[in-house]
Amino acid sequence: MLMADLSRQIARNLAEVRGRIAQAAAASGRAPEAITLVAVTKYVGPPQIRALVEAGCSLLGENRPQALWEKAAALDDLPIQWHMIGHLQRNKVRRTLPLVSMVQSADSQRLVEAIDRVAGELGLAMPILLEVNVSGEPAKHGFAPDEVERVLEQVVRYTHVEVRGLMCMAGLEGGPERARRDFAALRTLRDRLETVALPAVRLDELSMGMSGDYEAAIEEGATIVRIGSALFEGVAG
Ligand SMILES: *Cc1c(COP(=O)(O)O)cnc(C)c1O
Repeated sequence: MLMADLSRQIARNLAEVRGRIAQAAAASGRAPEAITLVAVTKYVGPPQIRALVEAGCSLLGENRPQALWEKAAALDDLPIQWHMIGHLQRNKVRRTLPLVSMVQSADSQRLVEAIDRVAGELGLAMPILLEVNVSGEPAKHGFAPDEVERVLEQVVRYTHVEVRGLMCMAGLEGGPERARRDFAALRTLRDRLETVALPAVRLDELSMGMSGDYEAAIEEGATIVRIGSALFEGVAG
């Protein structure tokens, strides 16, 4: 594919996704700026990512630490902000934290502890989201919904992580209605946790919704959507 065609296609995909985000926001009485788009770049390499950044989208997410390291290095001339959105092994925290502006996928107490310790050593304050396994599927990472309150009570003691909210993946089975229920469950959990009123903990962000279900997620209160395949339609692999 010619670079000019690639760029045009990606700009078109981005405009389409942004338009649908704005529509879903409007349908639920919210401003489009209330929704942050994180472009998930796991299916593509540097040429497609470069075109996306040039089209105006520079907040990117990767679900594998190693891929994030490689892409961040290959694209370090661009003004990209990276989010870690997939399982982060504790032995990869040190190499990952300096490259990212958020870890969305804090999925165990031990990982949160490791992020706090390493962020302290590096002189960082790292924003994180707690990943919640709302669907209960055993293959999924994340805290059980009824664990999150206890985790937050611990997290208050950490001085180098800042919990900003919750993240989830919808269940794979059950289609759009199931996804919508999972999103509503995450929002309900957040609303309940906010009434527990832990000082120093804000849960403003709800990261939920991917290419197949982001409009439903926005209607259920998402503030961050993580979109990959819809942005790279016609240019991936
Ligand atoms: C791949 C991935 C996405 C994006 O998925 P698409 O369906 O391609 O939009 C979002 N979040 C996480 C954690 C992912 O791994």
